[in-house]
This record gives sequence, C-alpha cells and structure tokens, in this order.
Amino acid sequence: DTVIVLFTRDLRVRDHPALTAACARGGHVVPLFVLDPKVPAGRRAGFLTDCLADLRASLRARAGDLLVRRGDTVAETMRLAAEVGASEVYASADVSALARGRERRLAGERIGLRLFPGLTIVPPRELLPSGGGDHYRVFTPYWRAWAAHPRRPVLPAPSRVPLPPGLEHGLEHGLEHGLEHGLEPGDLPGHAPHPALRGGEPAARARLELWRREGLDGYADGHDDLAGDRTSRLSPYLRFGCLSPLEAACVAPVEHPFVRQLCWRDFFHQVTLAFPAICRRDYRPRPRRWRDDAEAVSAWKAGMTGIPIVDAGMRQLLAEGWMHNRARMIVADYLVNHLGVDWRVGAAHFFDLLLDGDVADNGGNWQWIAGTGNSPRPGRVLNPLRQARRFDPVSGYIHRYVPELSGLVPAEAREPWRIGGVRGYPAPLTALE
Ligand code: FAD
Repeated sequence: DTVIVLFTRDLRVRDHPALTAACARGGHVVPLFVLDPKVPAGRRAGFLTDCLADLRASLRARAGDLLVRRGDTVAETMRLAAEVGASEVYASADVSALARGRERRLAGERIGLRLFPGLTIVPPRELLPSGGGDHYRVFTPYWRAWAAHPRRPVLPAPSRVPLPPGLEHGLEHGLEHGLEHGLEPGDLPGHAPHPALRGGEPAARARLELWRREGLDGYADGHDDLAGDRTSRLSPYLRFGCLSPLEAACVAPVEHPFVRQLCWRDFFHQVTLAFPAICRRDYRPRPRRWRDDAEAVSAWKAGMTGIPIVDAGMRQLLAEGWMHNRARMIVADYLVNHLGVDWRVGAAHFFDLLLDGDVADNGGNWQWIAGTGNSPRPGRVLNPLRQARRFDPVSGYIHRYVPELSGLVPAEAREPWRIGGVRGYPAPLTALE
C-alpha cells in the first residue's frame, strides 16, 4: 500500500504532519516534488534548489528519497501514482488560488487526497469570528483568539520513510530521470544565484537557533532599526517551509512581539483562503485613480528615486532578494501614496524579487499600505524623511546601500538636495518636507 507525499512549500522533514502521517500508516511512502511552470521560481530558484537538495538528503538518511518531476503538478502526481500503484496523496493544505485549484483538481482524480496542517501555526478556519463569517477581517481580535488557542505539538522527523521496494536502489521505472534533471541549479527557470543565503532545513534550523540565542532579546526594541538589521531573517525559510512556523513560534512566549509577527503571517493566510484574489483585487475597494508613470516606476525599481531612504530599500531588495520590514513599508508607501502608482505594480515587483515572496503576506501587506486591506489606514501617508530620521538616525542603512552617499554626514545623506545634490545620484522625484 503506497502513499505519495506531495511536497510544495513545506520542504522539511521535522514537524511535517503529512509526512509523519504517511510514515505512520505502515505502508510505503513516495515523496514527490514537482517543478511546475505555473509556479515560476524566479529569483527564488537558487534557494529552492538548496531546499530540494537538503530535503532529498534528509529523506535518503531515512531510507527514503525525493522524486523531482517537471510539469503540471496534478498530471505528474497521477503519472507517478500509476507507476508506483499509489492509492492516496498526502499534502499540506494551502491557501492561494493556485494551490486551491491544484487541490480541487487532485480531489477530482481517481486517488484519495488527504490534506494536513503545517503551513501556518493555527490552520486557517480553525479560528472563526464569534460574530459569524468565514475569516477574521481585523487583526487584533484574531490575535487575541490566536494567542489563546491551543496548539498541536511539534512533531519529530520520522525515523524511516519506507520507499516501495522497486525504488529503493537505483530507482527503476525511469524515476531517476526526474531526479537527475530536476536539481541542477542552472537548469531551473529564471535562476539567479544568491550569494548570501542558503536554503534548506539545516540552514533554517541554524538560523533559528542563532536567532533564539542572540536576536530574540533585542527584537522588541530593535526590530525597526534599519541599520541594526535585528529581525530574524527567517522569512525565506518560512516561505519554503524549511522551518515549521509552529516550531519558530515555540522559541518565545506567545505575547513576545516576534510571535505576534508570526501571527500576522497566519492572519494573512486565513484572509487569503477566504479572499484568494488578495494579490489582484482590492479587499476593501477604495475608489482611487492611479497614475500611469512608467519612468517613476523604473526609477523606483532601480533605487534611483533620489529619496535616499527609499533607494536604500529598493537596492537592498535588488542586491539581497530581501528587504527590512520598515523599509518595505517606506518604499511601498512611497510608490502608492507619493507617486500615486497602483499597489499591484509594486506587489508584482516585490513578488518577483523577494526570496520570501508569498501571495498572502505580499498581497496582505501591500493592501494594508494602500488602505484597501483589512485594517484601512484612511489617508495615512508616511513621510520618508521623518521615517529616515527616526529609524535610520545615523544614516547607516543609507550609507550601506547607496554608496554614492557614503561620504556624507547623516543629515546630508538623508537629504542630499540640501547641499546641492551629489554627482551621479538623481534629484528627488517628488518634493518632500
Ligand atoms: P521578523 O521581524 O523576524 O518576523 C518573523 C516572521 O514573522 C517573518 O519571517 C514573517 O514570516 C512574519 N512576519 C513579520 N512581519 C510580517 C508582516 N507584516 N506580515 C506577515 N508576516 C510577517 N513577508 C513575507 O514573508 N513575504 C512577502 O512577500 C512579504 N511582502 C511584504 C510586502 C510589504 C509591502 C510589506 C510592508 C511587508 C511584507 N512582508 C512580507 C512582511 C515583512 O516585511 C517580512 O515578513 C519581514 O520583513 C521578514 O523579515 P524577518 O523574517 O526578519 O521578520
């Protein structure tokens, strides 16, 4: 009796309810990942490659393996099911429109589909507002219910992942084809190697451990300090599920601000399950005329708006595939509220470049900035200069990412136009007070 465990963005063996349940059944288990062209990896391809290689190594260490196929996820899953005689598919329940479509199609196939928790700390729909409705629309009541909700225990990695006999050695049935051709880094579409960050479960666990020891205590006071860079940087690992969010939440008491941030992630996931168009349509429509300004958008993308704090954020994104949360807020607000450009333009750019680019978190946060989201911020606009003075007081963040300004004292680096500008650095796109 064989079960396929379909991995998607849950690339780990520890605290993986679907994998644990499959191994506990007593039959055989075939772990599968499908490189699906409908899920372009973009900038994330290198990171994903690390994750897959590590997952395969972890499964092999447990007498299992990871089959990697390329093509339509449902078609490849069914093809493999026929090859190995699988009767069921186990997977982690997901929330995006694409993932839900895949789940619906699999459920319509002639195979059993069982969905498990694991992508969030509290599964969406496990918490419902007492006043009715299929999801929480506002964060604070969600947070209160979430914090009081009992959590399932963190699961250990299964000790054995029993492959069917024919697959154990040499992977007969031509299955090695997918493996050998799926994991070459350069072979993935849109691959752009990222120098600084390694994907995978061991790297995620090392990062979590370091963070628990050295970062957690300073988080409450330091998380908005742009140059201090004192957030966990766990987001790419959470994006690919190299780390269970439940396990991450266990490093601190529930009222700790770090755990509250993890709750925001759960919050946007339960919103997305109820409102799958989160990256495309206003959650709370707000009549607004957007400006079509291709030049301003290119300057914003290139980190050449002439507003140093905005450019520093955008250049961090280009260089690292990651941006500090405070900078994300500043640059997003600048695009939407100062340049008057549709939030979807910014969200698409973020989604392309962020290693943690995620439908729920990206859509939810952009809509929050645009005032179309769950917690409307009517008329609220951030002043980038004030933000820079407050969160980058000695311009360390600007100096780091905008080398043209690195020789200037902090106040000049924030507002180079006050000293008549700097050669090679543009004049500001918009006037600021
Ligand atoms: P920490 O501060 O250490 O927080 C720990 C974890 O909590 C994060 O890894 C993340 O999983 C979660 N978290 C923190 N803040 C938020 C938040 N505001 N919303 C949801 N979850 C949060 N985060 C993404 O993971 N993917 C995205 O595509 C994404 N797009 C964003 C777009 C905009 C415009 C903004 C303002 C924020 C976006 N965020 C996104 C949220 C946040 O900026 C990142 O999660 C955070 O910067 C990641 O760094 P960290 O892991 O060091 O965070």
